[in-house]
Amino acid sequence: MNSSCLKCGSSEYYVKTIVCPEKNIGLKIKLGVYYLKICSECGFVEMYAAEILDDEKNKKGVKIEKIPNPSY
Ligand SMILES: [Zn+2]
Repeated sequence: MNSSCLKCGSSEYYVKTIVCPEKNIGLKIKLGVYYLKICSECGFVEMYAAEILDDEKNKKGVKIEKIPNPSY
């Protein structure tokens, strides 16, 4: 994750984990885990897929790709 807010540049944030049921083709439901990085200055939220973030963490020197933010 980037250490500073994309919107206001603040480096203060907290992280929450959310679990979201996802329906794939074939009607199987799995639980997707996401990290929310919430700026403590402006409330801007970045959302990361945990399975990708955790996977990327295991590869040294690989840049973490971000998930686009949900529009609101
Ligand atoms: Zn911010």
